[in-house]
Amino acid sequence: MLRLDTQFEIRNLHAPRLFKVITLDELITFGTSSCAGDASFDDLLLYVEDADILDAQLLPSLPLGGLLIAKGELPVVDEGTVLLSNPRDAEVVRPGDVIALSPSSRMVRVLYRRGANSNLLFMTDRCNSLCLMCSQPPKDIDDQWHIEENLRLLDLIDPCAEQLGISGGEPTLYKEGLLAIIDKAKRIAPAKSLHVLSNGRLLSDPAWIAELKHMNHPALTWGIPLYGDTAEDHDHLVQAEGAFSETIRGIYNLGRAGQRIEIRVVLNQLTIPRLPQLAHFIFRNMPFVEHIALMGIESTGLAKKNHQTLWIDPLDYQDTLSSACHFLEVRGMNVSIYNLPLCVLKPSLMPFYRRSISDWKNLFIEECDGCSATEYCAGFFKSHSERWKSRGIHPLSRDELSHYTRSMS
Ligand code: SF4
Repeated sequence: MLRLDTQFEIRNLHAPRLFKVITLDELITFGTSSCAGDASFDDLLLYVEDADILDAQLLPSLPLGGLLIAKGELPVVDEGTVLLSNPRDAEVVRPGDVIALSPSSRMVRVLYRRGANSNLLFMTDRCNSLCLMCSQPPKDIDDQWHIEENLRLLDLIDPCAEQLGISGGEPTLYKEGLLAIIDKAKRIAPAKSLHVLSNGRLLSDPAWIAELKHMNHPALTWGIPLYGDTAEDHDHLVQAEGAFSETIRGIYNLGRAGQRIEIRVVLNQLTIPRLPQLAHFIFRNMPFVEHIALMGIESTGLAKKNHQTLWIDPLDYQDTLSSACHFLEVRGMNVSIYNLPLCVLKPSLMPFYRRSISDWKNLFIEECDGCSATEYCAGFFKSHSERWKSRGIHPLSRDELSHYTRSMS
């Protein structure tokens, strides 16, 4: 698990900036075309592993926005060159990353990490729901500045094919900004698939249909949470009256706009009792959705406060989970299980199992020492604690693991 921020000594920074970190080799071979969109040399920050082995005359003369000196003597540079040195954790910022700096802080934030499975355009801290298990409780603030930051970030990311997430808070609250970001992503990085996480409520406005059709992004998926087959259950989980009706209308509008849709169900004490009915509801009413993700809970944010209401040991719902997965599968629907430790899963569920936890918040715990399954297992969220631990956690032997892997073939 690698953090997404660390502290540096920063010199010559007079305004907030985003930089693409680049090696000398990459600079010589690709120049600004290592960025997906519009970038100049001033947007590049040269990554210098060891300043002592580079030509001290060359460094300051390069026409770049800045230098990151991981190790070695600081070169003399002119006032216009931003200088980063003495990282608290030298592993956090690597070549290819896009970082954000501010003159008011020593903290450097990694907004884009080359090769990560979890790069995210964060849209807002605001939300129009207040889910009992929200991992990032909403804040009532005006943070539209994220739109500009994300538009600029898109210019500096790698142009290669990979997935980018768009999340919040609720991204649809900034509709124009969200549409501008999707449009720009399509123009400059069409090979990247986009995955927008939204509660779908504002998508109940039919005006979205024409706009999404017009946008026609080739690889855009909407992940929409649905926590029950009744308004009573769903509205309670998201703590918003009327949300079920809005979300269902939102899902239909996405369907009308020809969008790819994923339904997300967080498995907890309140959703498990009617999980089979919810699977039935999805099959009957939304056969057009592309994917259904049944997900373990992330034990942070409001989930911590609501532990007693939400916690159920995954060991105790394996039969229910199994019946929901198989019900959907035999009807041709695409189902996955996310965010559960492998050793609590029924081996027959292995075909649905995914290593889903983002690489920057995934960890293994003491019980995992000596387990044969670490390469298959999703592990735990970094927020994991004892009271969220299943009594089924145990290292899998090679023999046990073979029961799982056999069911994949
Ligand atoms: S013990 Fe093995 S299977 Fe269980 S959570 Fe740890 S790594 Fe995963």
